[in-house]
Amino acid sequence: MSPALPAGVERRRFDGRERLATRGDPVYGEPQDDEGWRAWDAGRSKLGAMLEIGMDLGIDGDDGVLYLGAASGTTVSHVADFAGPTYAVEFAPRPTRDLVGVAESRPNLFPLLKDAREPETYAHVVESDLDCLIQDVATRGQATVALRNREFLAPDGRLLAAFKARSEDVLSDPAEVFDDVLAELRAGYEILETQRLDRFHDDHLAVVAEPRPEGSE
Ligand code: SAM
Repeated sequence: MSPALPAGVERRRFDGRERLATRGDPVYGEPQDDEGWRAWDAGRSKLGAMLEIGMDLGIDGDDGVLYLGAASGTTVSHVADFAGPTYAVEFAPRPTRDLVGVAESRPNLFPLLKDAREPETYAHVVESDLDCLIQDVATRGQATVALRNREFLAPDGRLLAAFKARSEDVLSDPAEVFDDVLAELRAGYEILETQRLDRFHDDHLAVVAEPRPEGSE
């Protein structure tokens, strides 16, 4: 049996097809129903794909979230629809401008034009002991980014990350790239579940992990 969806995420019918949905203003042309729900497109969202394939994300309504690699807000808008304070880090100015627009109707969404490799530049803004660190940065050194941002997580918090093989190494076998990513990640996290997302996103590995207690590395 699939794990329960987070409070605030439902399966609803759009155009005769059952899809994940959250309630909020539309962002990327997704279908809406007349009760204010909007479809969450798993083909455009790695977190949506993780929910769609039944991964146990351990995320719930009202959770505090740090989201790394927010782009123009496709996925983080859905997260902010059901979560609590949601800090959205993106280092490219152009998508961040769109993200600011997405946040206008979401008072719990805080866009940050910052580099996720430099958490010290936003540590004064982002609260600590967050429930959830969501990462989709598609850049070289993805495991290092997750390790550097571990400080924001509560001891029982969750890392929900999508690692893109080609961002690490275009030539190597993705399976080998993922082995290396997981080996690095284990320095600071206990891996709870991994799944390939190929049904929705080529050469991506989704990882659910929890921070290892200080001193256990
Ligand atoms: N998560 C987004 C979504 O589902 O709506 C899509 C993210 S896109 C695959 C990856 C994003 O990560 C890009 O917008 C890119 O600019 C951003 N990114 C890459 N490296 C970054 C870094 N070091 N700090 C912040 N953002 C970064």
